[in-house]
Amino acid sequence: MDISRFPSFKLDGKVALVTGGSKGIGLAMACALGIHGAHVVIASRKADELQTVVDEMKNQGLDFSWVQADVTKKGQVHDMIDNIIECHGKLDILVNNAGMNIRKPLIEVEEDDWDQVINTNLKGIFFVGQAAAKQMMKQKNGKIINISSILGGIGMPSQTSYAASKGGINQLTKVWASELSPYNINVNAIAPAYIKTPMTSPWLQDEERYKQIVQNTMMKRIGEVEDVAGPVVFLASDASNYVTGHILYVDGGWTAQ
Ligand code: NAP
Repeated sequence: MDISRFPSFKLDGKVALVTGGSKGIGLAMACALGIHGAHVVIASRKADELQTVVDEMKNQGLDFSWVQADVTKKGQVHDMIDNIIECHGKLDILVNNAGMNIRKPLIEVEEDDWDQVINTNLKGIFFVGQAAAKQMMKQKNGKIINISSILGGIGMPSQTSYAASKGGINQLTKVWASELSPYNINVNAIAPAYIKTPMTSPWLQDEERYKQIVQNTMMKRIGEVEDVAGPVVFLASDASNYVTGHILYVDGGWTAQ
């Protein structure tokens, strides 16, 4: 066995973009990529939050920078990618993570609720993925990791818009994988179950709901943001070069039951 042929999990010299990287799962994935050697650009709508996070990460020895962009605005998305190429000359890894949720029963969902969720979680993912793919096709390499959810594959009450957006992300992942594989670009998705973040904390404060979620999870606990670190490093690194079009569930076994 020639061990020099084995691929590495290291990301030294790679440039990564994490949308929604200012907090929650996005920030944890950005840290994981940084710990493994990548330069990480985090993006969101709030410059002051981004600057604070970048300062904190630099203090801990990570190579971070930020760019402000609203993923629902095509012009801002294109400026974001142009800015990265101008500063770093390439984009190796995209973590297409920015997202939100408005939970309401079907008959209470307003048109504006639907638009906000779909525009952020689906149209935003499309804008960023398309702009990044144009650059990666020129480079003839890249890794795109879309952040889905268990709700991309299963149903639950009060998740009309969100589940529709995440099901759409699963399909985009497969379509992009098939289109971009000739360019040496891998496209995969990570589909977490409940993870404690600013998005879910208010929702998880309900004790009954919390207990039920723990009960529904094989591992009998709710996920922590660090649980997504290993999967994102794997999908961003050469270790996953033969993995594409895959939906990787990070759900403590929820969907396997
Ligand atoms: P979060 O804590 O609310 O963080 C969301 C991030 O997205 C923030 O950085 C936010 O920054 C950014 N963002 C939102 N809208 C944006 C926009 N229009 N343009 C640019 N950035 C935007 O959420 P999270 O729980 O970490 O979730 C991250 C991703 O994981 C989402 O796609 C979510 O659907 C998915 N997910 C989460 C869970 C969970 O249990 N937490 C489970 C499955 C999947 P600004 O608001 O400052 O722009």
